[in-house]
Amino acid sequence: MEKDILNKKECGWLKINEDEKQSIFNYCNSYIEFLNKCKTEREASNYIVDKLKNNGFIDINTVESVKTGDKLYMQNRNKSVYAAIIGDDLLSGLNIIGSHIDSPRLDLKPNPLYDDAKIGLFKTHYYGGIKKYQWTTIPLALHGVIVKANKEKVSICIGEDDNDPIFTITDILPHLAQNQYEKKIGKAIEGEDLNAVVGSIPNSDNESIKENILSLLNKKYDIKEIDFYSSELELVPAFKARNLGFDESMVAAYGQDDRVCSYDNLMAFINAKNISKTNVAIFADKEEIGSVGNTGMCSETFDLFISELLNKQNINYPNAINKVYCNSKMLSADVGAAVDPNYQDVSEKNNSSYIGYGVELNKYTGARGKSGASDANAEFVADIRNIFESNDIKYQVSELGKVDIGGGGTIAYILANKGIDVIDCGVPIISMHSPFEIASKFDIYEAYLGYKAFFENE
Ligand code: MN
Ligand code: MN
Repeated sequence: MEKDILNKKECGWLKINEDEKQSIFNYCNSYIEFLNKCKTEREASNYIVDKLKNNGFIDINTVESVKTGDKLYMQNRNKSVYAAIIGDDLLSGLNIIGSHIDSPRLDLKPNPLYDDAKIGLFKTHYYGGIKKYQWTTIPLALHGVIVKANKEKVSICIGEDDNDPIFTITDILPHLAQNQYEKKIGKAIEGEDLNAVVGSIPNSDNESIKENILSLLNKKYDIKEIDFYSSELELVPAFKARNLGFDESMVAAYGQDDRVCSYDNLMAFINAKNISKTNVAIFADKEEIGSVGNTGMCSETFDLFISELLNKQNINYPNAINKVYCNSKMLSADVGAAVDPNYQDVSEKNNSSYIGYGVELNKYTGARGKSGASDANAEFVADIRNIFESNDIKYQVSELGKVDIGGGGTIAYILANKGIDVIDCGVPIISMHSPFEIASKFDIYEAYLGYKAFFENE
């Protein structure tokens, strides 16, 4: 058989030289810094806006008119960001890459603080799809904001500095876990058991631990208990992103879904050269709970951003936005599930991604017979193949897992519903949604190169 008839899949590391390896490692050092600075959607959105401003981007709300070459952004409620570099002809469509900056975590309830059995605790309500047992007995950091009734905003970040205290959720000692062992794994730790330990010294007046903690918080942040009502406080893993393996070929970190594709998206968007189409980068919130709400991808604020580009170029007319969308191409930049060597039976190996084998394309996602999937058109998959193959981007095409064993989705269908050609394209991950997700440095860098090639394509 002729050699190139066969689609030979080989590990990406085998094809690179020492210089390329160094570029990959340097890039990932910066990525690791980003992960350590941005553990919440608010922190990521502010980081992204700072980076955009430093690269000449301007808030669209501050400009009257827009022309070719302009670099603009819109930050939505400190939680999501849209950015654009205006090309030659907006109506001929956009090159869009969309990722999300929220990750699974434990949110504090509106009335979080109480004491029980001589310990001070925070009640939590988990956000996104977590395996609850993974969140006990690990160090947790508290990130977020408390907004007082007078609108004064207090930013909180405790547990990231080595001198900071951390928080943690308890679990039963094995000696007394006989009943827990008999439960199914999904029920072994219940949602209402995810209460974080936050103190143990009682108030000398009335022996209340809760009141002692409240007075500490009052002294440090000038807040009262009622101020928790208007807060968004998130418990996230306190550990730092690390190099994984003797060869340091992987990154292990919290929140790589989907901050890995978000970082690649941002870097590719800023570094793309000689562009002709209008490039748009989306950094969405609320993907992990269904893309709902006014900061999620279903929100019409994205349509508003595109309409404003048309308005301020004086080229808007009824349905112009629909025309823009129908001419647009998009990569939905979200992570995929790589084959886990310990749990290979959930993957169908001919149609699975392996870490180190390049950026992953998912033609469709969904569950139970592709339900909920936007399913990219073959013609569009060919377009993306062409971009990747002509730029020597190593990619793999796969599915989430075996048929009928589960499923999932991304923001892809939301943009596809607008008329945009969309395909999922991201970094394969092991231990997705756990407090410590794994990605290959090769794939992280290859996704960046792939996104950049997409932005640079006509
Ligand atoms: Mn995701
Ligand atoms: Mn996810």
